Amino acid sequence: MTIALAGNPNSGKTTLFNNLTGSNQFVGNWPGVTVEKKTGKLKTDSSVSVTDLPGIYSLSPYTSEEVIARNYLLRDKPDAILNIIDGTNIERNLYLSTQLAELDIPMVLAVNMLDILEKRGVELDVAKFGEILGHPAVTISALKGTNTAHAAELAAELPLIVSDAPPKFVRFDSAAERTLGVIEALLPDSSEHRRFDAVKLFERDALVKARYPDIDHSAIERLIADAEAQLDDDSESIIANGRYTYIERIVKQFLNKRESTRKTPTELIDRFVMNRVLALPIFAAVIFVVYAIAVSTLGGFITDWTNETLFGELIPNAVSGWLKSAGAAEWQRGLIIDGIIGGVGAVLGFVPQMLILFFMLAFLEGCGYMARIAYLLDSIFHRFGLSGKSFIPFLIGTGCGVPGIMASRTIESDSERRVTIMTTTFMPCGAKLPVIALFAGAALGGGSWVMASSYLLGIASILLSGIILQQFKWFRRHSTPFIMELPNYHMPTLSALLRETWHNGWSFIKKAGTIILISSVAVWFLSNFGFVNGRFQMVSDLRFGLLATVGRMLSWLFIPLGFGTWQATVSVFTGLIAKENIVATLGVIYGGGSGISAAFTPVIAYAFLVFNLLCMPCMAAVGAIRREMNNARWFWIAIAYQCSFAYIVALVVRLIGSLIFEG
Ligand code: GDP
Ligand code: MG
Repeated sequence: MTIALAGNPNSGKTTLFNNLTGSNQFVGNWPGVTVEKKTGKLKTDSSVSVTDLPGIYSLSPYTSEEVIARNYLLRDKPDAILNIIDGTNIERNLYLSTQLAELDIPMVLAVNMLDILEKRGVELDVAKFGEILGHPAVTISALKGTNTAHAAELAAELPLIVSDAPPKFVRFDSAAERTLGVIEALLPDSSEHRRFDAVKLFERDALVKARYPDIDHSAIERLIADAEAQLDDDSESIIANGRYTYIERIVKQFLNKRESTRKTPTELIDRFVMNRVLALPIFAAVIFVVYAIAVSTLGGFITDWTNETLFGELIPNAVSGWLKSAGAAEWQRGLIIDGIIGGVGAVLGFVPQMLILFFMLAFLEGCGYMARIAYLLDSIFHRFGLSGKSFIPFLIGTGCGVPGIMASRTIESDSERRVTIMTTTFMPCGAKLPVIALFAGAALGGGSWVMASSYLLGIASILLSGIILQQFKWFRRHSTPFIMELPNYHMPTLSALLRETWHNGWSFIKKAGTIILISSVAVWFLSNFGFVNGRFQMVSDLRFGLLATVGRMLSWLFIPLGFGTWQATVSVFTGLIAKENIVATLGVIYGGGSGISAAFTPVIAYAFLVFNLLCMPCMAAVGAIRREMNNARWFWIAIAYQCSFAYIVALVVRLIGSLIFEG
């Protein structure tokens, strides 16, 4: 027995899902896309499984969320739908319910946020509501757990009850209904969702059309055109208007809103927080606090400790001692200590910091503030082909690009999500900071302007890329109507915050365990093995390794940028494993800061820095880009764009820099 949880975004699906399934959850992706798929078993009855569908406003064929939800309902045939309706927004939520009803799958209507309705003194006659819509209905509070088990029980029993009451659908204008009747009659007997398919064919839904290759679509098209002419409107609007009129008519019969003059707490808070003058300063202050805790003070302290002490001394020393006593060969020790622990540890070192950041972001999300940030920034970011929600990936990206890229998932528009994925790693991440510090100290006079300029450069590169990429038709936004409802403020539960934090942190750790592990081993191998006197063997020095050979072969690439040496080239490559490797590699080759300052003029040092900040990120982030793009072509476009963008900016820096400073 399978129950599908369907409803608008923010209606409380996930809260209900967690309440019903507890810890019996399985998270994966929907086939072919990176939208998260959650399934679980009822705590009270493990024979019933529950699937949390993506939040949607409609069953149109336009967004990937809607297509996923439709396909699931049509193809995987859940036994029942549990439709969650945000009780504080009934009209908008019923728009989806009227469409779900047309699928003719047993459905229970659960009106959520009962606690808020009660506080506001809204009276909902739930029996009447269910009777009018023709489905069993209950009021619940997913957050408080009121009635939730009852709602799930109803949904689980419903498929077993035989009913001969005819299903209730919205009746549209009579001209439209006549056409729908004819279309329905044209459908083959085998069709399972006749009303749904007929309405969708009337709306010229390409996905449904494709399922009926054998019926006479030109006849249907003539009928639709007739109905459109009679009603003087296009078919999609006829259907949408029909639903809205219906909802408006029925709502009065079961809902009694006693207009209270008292403002709700959310309205009171928003008067202050979303105030025209104060909104942006408050936002800046909130982000400053998050950043100060997660990145500079507490998070920075813990990261330094994990990077330098835990993965820099404690673990390598312990493992090294253990390997020695076990009689491991020198190359085995090198592989494990420098290759594996060095590479994987460099990324795992960010885990504590990331967990702190994820926790605070989960809090901002859970209490309702995140939706407001997205709302505030949306109008600004839209001009650059980005979403208001892109801010979060960029913010996380200043810690580490991998979770930053993963955070782009919440962006609905495909084009905005792709631009975000392609530009998140322009922000200087934690691993780039040692590189910046090295060059600031060794070749650029130790100025703190170097650090500041790299953040500015990151932001400018993101915005500039937004403008550039919009010139290509692939990235142009389809103007989807901007619907975002601001949820009520409330205190998130600690368990929900911890669950979210752990979920995000774990994806990050898994990534470190796979991609980074493999690529660290590969680079270690390439730097430590090579041909000496015609014999392939382990080499004592990086400069004899295969990597140096490759560096010599490819160094001409960087001649226009001023650093066409094998040393610089090799460090660009080792930087692809983890950016801070650049520091280690140059350290090994040049034997420290003075060697570096001799090898790079200030202008070339800055060009080198710029190139490494902007070019394709480390392998871990590259893997994240691959997974979030979920498409080979988009992945390669992203990598090619990042590398060419970096090359051009570095070239400009070099040319203008030498013109000004070196004549
Ligand atoms: P989803 O987008 O449908 O998965 O919605 P969520 O489960 O993430 O819930 C959206 C917001 O509404 C969250 O902040 C929830 O804590 C809150 N919420 C969910 N159910 C209730 C409820 O019954 N009462 C109240 N007051 N808040 C709720
Ligand atoms: Mg959800």
